[in-house]
Amino acid sequence: LKKLVLVLGDQLKADSSAFNNFSPENDHVIMIESVCEANYVWSHQAKIALFLSAMRHFAKDLKSKKYPLTYIAKSKQPIVAELKQHIQKNQFTHLICVEPGELRLKADLESLAHELNIHLDLRQDNHFYCEVDEFKKWAGDKKELRLEYFYRYMRKKHQVMMQANDEPEGGQWNFDDQNRGAYSKKGPGLIIDPLWFEPDDITKEVIAEVKEQYSNHPGQLENFGWPVTRDQALKAMEHFMEHRLPSFGQYQDAMWTNTPFGWHSILSASLNLKLIDPKEVVDAAIKVWKQKNISINAVEGFVRQILGWREFVRGMYYLDMPKMAKANFYDHQRSLPKWYWSGETKMACMQDAINQTMKFGYAHHIQRLMVTGNFALLAEILPKDVCAWYLAVYVDAIEWVELPNTSGMALFANGPRFTSKPYIASGAYIKRMSNYCDSCAYKPSERYGENACPMTSLYWNFLIKHKAELEKNPRTRLMRANLNKIDVAEQHKIEQHAQYLLNNLENI
Ligand code: FAD
Ligand code: SF4
Repeated sequence: LKKLVLVLGDQLKADSSAFNNFSPENDHVIMIESVCEANYVWSHQAKIALFLSAMRHFAKDLKSKKYPLTYIAKSKQPIVAELKQHIQKNQFTHLICVEPGELRLKADLESLAHELNIHLDLRQDNHFYCEVDEFKKWAGDKKELRLEYFYRYMRKKHQVMMQANDEPEGGQWNFDDQNRGAYSKKGPGLIIDPLWFEPDDITKEVIAEVKEQYSNHPGQLENFGWPVTRDQALKAMEHFMEHRLPSFGQYQDAMWTNTPFGWHSILSASLNLKLIDPKEVVDAAIKVWKQKNISINAVEGFVRQILGWREFVRGMYYLDMPKMAKANFYDHQRSLPKWYWSGETKMACMQDAINQTMKFGYAHHIQRLMVTGNFALLAEILPKDVCAWYLAVYVDAIEWVELPNTSGMALFANGPRFTSKPYIASGAYIKRMSNYCDSCAYKPSERYGENACPMTSLYWNFLIKHKAELEKNPRTRLMRANLNKIDVAEQHKIEQHAQYLLNNLENI
């Protein structure tokens, strides 16, 4: 028996199941940096730098613990090609790896094992609360799956924020109605910045390499301060719990110009690289809630994102792939406007969300869902193009979490499979939740004409186009009913203007 453990770039967990029964005398570890991984979508420079730096720090840690490790840096070959050479040269009989977060890679590993006639041991990822098979069992043969029921199941099973009688703490499962606040019209006030880390020598070297090797990739590196080690990720988590969690709930959906992080945790990248575990993040939030008596809506809102949404979308990914990647409920076929990569649009909301994305590789949930995602849906963009953009530009983007969020939540490309309605909004919503419209070339209340807000025109156009479907759905019936307040002649003008916008998406 000669075993090789493959550690992928998003599996940087010291107590990973890949190391169960690891014997340093007999077994070996391999980590591979592959240029192909950074190139298969046109990845943001900060995303590449984060992965490489975190991998190199993890490798350093393994070496200091005397793990026998081969680290292949800057390979021009795909991961499996490197792996093949290494296995053949050293005659390994077993390949061990935690289930990859992209089914593409899983299929590649399976073919390799088959070709080399070695044993492939793909292990359950012990980072998550819910195992893939458990989710499949929970889903059963239900046609439509909803977060709310899964979340309650998880709360009960893991006894998170539960009272002794199996009722939720605070008497309600969710406090969403308190978590939709906007900032004051005067501005967000003093927001305590998230903890940001000065690049050390390893990160500096990586940044220099990325600047040279991936100079034509999108995004900037000047503001790189992401946690690249478990130690830093834990510090960032503690800082959030101490200073930012209390305001997280109330302002979860709020947006404001040049306010890239709001009160959000900025922990997704550390979680997705597995530098920290969801259980420790949830436990830390509950501890702070109990010790400091902060409001239940902040803590429940935060816990739901991690124990609920994050586990739910992962379950959906493994349940519905590969058909999820091809889903296109509305048969949208338009190309993604080029300015998604540059921010060069007159729409102030899109400009702000895209510019901060290029600056940090980060935008918060409402920006992703109700600004860039909303526009992509209303502008009838091909889901595959939109998903490729999200996968490329966010430092936390790994297919298992990016695809269900983009295809399923933002674009409703899977129909009602796992969200009950399309998340669409006009300029009125963006005006209510931000100050973007104040500095915009367009007017959020105008539905057609030169100054009309494209979000607004395209929103009403969407309602007109899909009125029969929206009428059938109780969750969208009210939206649809509002259309009746607009007379037919005006609806016609909206349609004409929307068509003009759709034909000129590059120049909006
Ligand atoms: P917070 O708002 O502080 O939330 C706390 C944590 O909850 C996050 O760190 C994250 O781990 C988890 N979380 C929150 N919402 C979700 C969600 N919908 N799905 C899964 N986990 C969630 N998240 C990713 O991690 N990677 C992605 O590639 C990604 N792509 C997205 C694409 C679209 C179109 C949309 C609408 C959402 C996407 N999300 C993605 C979910 C969410 O927007 C990000 O997790 C969040 O913005 C990360 O910022 P934060 O750490 O400050 O989150
Ligand atoms: Fe965005 Fe429309 Fe407001 Fe401009 S007017 S910021 S395009 S919502």
